[in-house]
Amino acid sequence: MKVLITGGTGLVGSFLTDLLLSNNIEVMVLSRSEKESQVKGLSYAVWNLAKETIDIEAVCSVDHIIHLAGANIGDKRWTDKQKELIIDSRVKTADLIYKTLKENKHQVKTFVSASGADCYGLETTNNCYEEAAAFGDDFLAKVCVAWENAANQFNHLGIRIVSLRTGVVCASKDSALQKMIKPIALGFGSPLGSGKQVMSLIHIQDLCNMYLHAINNVDLQGAYNAVAVNNTNEEVTQKVAKILHKPLFMPKVPAFMLRLFFGEMASIILEGSAVDNTKIKATGFEFKYDSLESVLKDVL
Ligand code: NDP
Repeated sequence: MKVLITGGTGLVGSFLTDLLLSNNIEVMVLSRSEKESQVKGLSYAVWNLAKETIDIEAVCSVDHIIHLAGANIGDKRWTDKQKELIIDSRVKTADLIYKTLKENKHQVKTFVSASGADCYGLETTNNCYEEAAAFGDDFLAKVCVAWENAANQFNHLGIRIVSLRTGVVCASKDSALQKMIKPIALGFGSPLGSGKQVMSLIHIQDLCNMYLHAINNVDLQGAYNAVAVNNTNEEVTQKVAKILHKPLFMPKVPAFMLRLFFGEMASIILEGSAVDNTKIKATGFEFKYDSLESVLKDVL
């Protein structure tokens, strides 16, 4: 079996590549820059989105495609230009693959795409969103709509599609979680805003297992929430401080300060509701890290 991973050089892609290789699956990473691999079973191909060029042979010769490419959502303030990049890097990339498969003979059976658990809207409520819930109408929700629509078009080619609506990925380095907890590790952490906003987390191992589960199980089709645990920002902050043996004596960081600093992007850390994972579990998927304690203890 051969799998192509777009954006396979990133946090999730690197972990997933190792997981697939260890399962004797060949991996082709599609990247914006040329790379050479010395690792058996791993190869690289290049695409250029501005010029709309892509390695046709690479895309058409694989059995499954996993679409992880996308400009980082939390890197820079959401100017109009950055918003356009966030969308285009997910949607136009999928479109380029779609066009390539449509115009050429290929053997692709599955297209699995990343999506965000933020798709239900960035607001703090008592809801626990199942996949059937409506999308929100803020910027990130609109990104997810466009992202999933770009994935859904592969259905027209008879290709099975799966979208994994992913929560905050927890890994021992380079993850969004590690950035968020830095102040706690330095000894001046505190809950953010009200502290009541829900953080939906997933361990990187579980997420990558879920991608493997999605390509291996033909019964999976459509969107699945990829979230293991839902805890308030206050609970996560307290648990991190406890595990790291750090004090929590600072007052809560006021929301207005974070909004001043991060602009609209502050909503990612200031708002959130719980997300339900019953649907993916009903497909036989089992989380290895299914409590806040087990997720955090492994990555901290
Ligand atoms: P990373 O930012 O670590 O990696 C994404 C990859 O996408 C990069 O390695 C890069 O590959 C490619 N990329 C970056 N910018 C662009 C661009 N402008 N155009 C095309 N490709 C680009 O992401 P993660 O591994 O953390 O996440 C993978 C996917 O999952 C992303 O789409 C992300 O939004 C989504 N996700 C991640 C979450 C998380 O907490 N990590 C939470 C929810 C969703 P290269 O340089 O080789 O081209």
